[in-house]
Amino acid sequence: MEFTRRGVMLVIASPSGAGKSSITRRLLAEQDNLTMSVSVTTRPMRKGEIEGKDYRFVSVEQFNALRDGGELLEWAKVHSNYYGTPVADVDQLIGAGRDVVFDIDYQGTQQLYEQRRDHLVSVFLLPPSIPELKSRLQGRALDSEDVINNRLKNARVEIEHWAEYDYVLVNDDLDKTCENVTRILQTARISRLRQTNLSGFIKGLQVQIDSL
Ligand code: ADP
Ligand code: 5GP
Repeated sequence: MEFTRRGVMLVIASPSGAGKSSITRRLLAEQDNLTMSVSVTTRPMRKGEIEGKDYRFVSVEQFNALRDGGELLEWAKVHSNYYGTPVADVDQLIGAGRDVVFDIDYQGTQQLYEQRRDHLVSVFLLPPSIPELKSRLQGRALDSEDVINNRLKNARVEIEHWAEYDYVLVNDDLDKTCENVTRILQTARISRLRQTNLSGFIKGLQVQIDSL
């Protein structure tokens, strides 16, 4: 028997290069009920990015108007650009029982915990080692050596926040990590907190007992 439920808000975070995009991509391909949260950002669009799919690219003025108008569930300045999560999309999706996956930093995750504690499950991915992290960043061939070194330095601050996440996984074997994240999502879906008609069902059982 299945109950109607609210969607899960699933945060997948990691230092750059540890594998969060690879895992998120797989999950989105495998899970019909899962949608990616599309953030707004003031950062310039990168080659290959698509407006409305990767981000909604906005000016600083537009960002400030969204933030001041209460339209962002969380926001943060990351590497000198602003990023934020539009609240209306998320609430509409989870209200309709769709699960939503977030690629946001630790500052955003902290705010989501303040705003939507009962809806949230968070996973932090670690690389097996720093030489392996460096080789993944180099193997991805997206960034210059300078950018890679900067990302490795930034990894220190991100890793410091490990204890703020519900699950911490070492992404050694990609298949295994995906399996574990899928398990985390499936378990979150059946949590009591997300069932919306459980108390009605329980009352029904009590009525049946009372009428014995
Ligand atoms: P992030 O989104 O965290 O920056 P990516 O998902 O882009 O990281 O992964 C960085 C690189 O490492 C990619 O080339 C990806 O194919 C590779 N990668 C991801 N997970 C693993 C893994 N478990 N083992 C080996 N390589 C991996
Ligand atoms: P990038 O510019 O490489 O796409 O993202 C840079 C960083 O910003 C990543 O760590 C990513 O997780 C974070 N980020 C992306 N969108 C958001 C958001 O909406 N809120 C917060 N807090 N961080 C975000």
